Amino acid sequence: MRRIEDIWCCTECGTEQGRHDQWFDGICEGCNTQKANTQKKDEITSMLIDIFDRIVIDTPNNFDEILEFVFEDVCETADPINWNESDVAIGFRRWIESEK
Ligand SMILES: [Zn+2]
Repeated sequence: MRRIEDIWCCTECGTEQGRHDQWFDGICEGCNTQKANTQKKDEITSMLIDIFDRIVIDTPNNFDEILEFVFEDVCETADPINWNESDVAIGFRRWIESEK
């Protein structure tokens, strides 16, 4: 039997959660992962734009495609917490190589 005090609702998606579901400051695990990914993409976006500035190129039209590639590359190969701009640069280089 579920007791009412064991139930909480995710403030993001409104899904009911039990006491065994992980609590991330009021949101459920799924929403937390999504939020973290969105944040990570935002950070990668600004790092990529910095890189473009440095090598003096305009933001390409297919930026979303590049971002998706680099994001996946960083998720797969870099440290999940201590990733940094050089991981983004490596991801971007891999994208250029994959386009050849
Ligand atoms: Zn949720």
